[in-house]
Amino acid sequence: MIIAIDGPAGSGKSTVARELARRLGFRYIETGSMYRAVAWAALQRGYAVEDADRLTALAANLDIDVRPTSVEDGRKYDVLVDGKDVTWAIRSQEVDGKVSIVAAHPGVRAALTDKQRAIGRRGKVVMVGRDIGTVVMPDAELKIYLDASPEERARRRYQERLARGEQADYAQILEAVHARDRLDRGRDVAPLRAAEDAVILNSDGLSIDEVFEEALRLVKARDC
Ligand code: C5P
Repeated sequence: MIIAIDGPAGSGKSTVARELARRLGFRYIETGSMYRAVAWAALQRGYAVEDADRLTALAANLDIDVRPTSVEDGRKYDVLVDGKDVTWAIRSQEVDGKVSIVAAHPGVRAALTDKQRAIGRRGKVVMVGRDIGTVVMPDAELKIYLDASPEERARRRYQERLARGEQADYAQILEAVHARDRLDRGRDVAPLRAAEDAVILNSDGLSIDEVFEEALRLVKARDC
């Protein structure tokens, strides 16, 4: 049983997916954190994010581990890169600005898609990303494409940052949301789009609870 949830940044897909996984007793895998881990590691090493060969080798060899939460600081899971806890580091504005360039390299996608399929094959998983329903898990029992306007998504990111006590600039975040959308939708390999058999939900003006209830209704209708 695989549930694929795709959509742009800030559409609410992580929150909805996590809660679905909890209710169903499924694993919850956020594939964006893997692309973020590669982007973070590239920045750390001083690699140019445009360097496809270097980034491909990095994605293939990097030890990325996603584990249950070890620290109660608002995180949803731990992300370790080569044994180092990078859970918050991969959510920085710097990584936000570069991750879509990293994710556009076909070699990086191939390496991470392999890792994601290996996880998916074990079943009972809610997997979240941009291309889960279209490329990674095209046979998923249920595919949901969660959308929301750029303004609504930027507002959510802005509030998340403030809630974590970080500095945030709404206009800058909105610009970054637009830039990431353009890159994620426009790339040649596995662009962000809804699979033909995905159910499209727009979360504008809905509370996260309302979106979750709708997703749960879809799960029950599919008997997942
Ligand atoms: O979901 P999140 O915002 O953490 O994803 C970060 C970036 O990783 C996305 O903007 C996208 O460029 C890339 N990504 C991807 N395919 C996925 C998941 C994320 O290209 N399945």
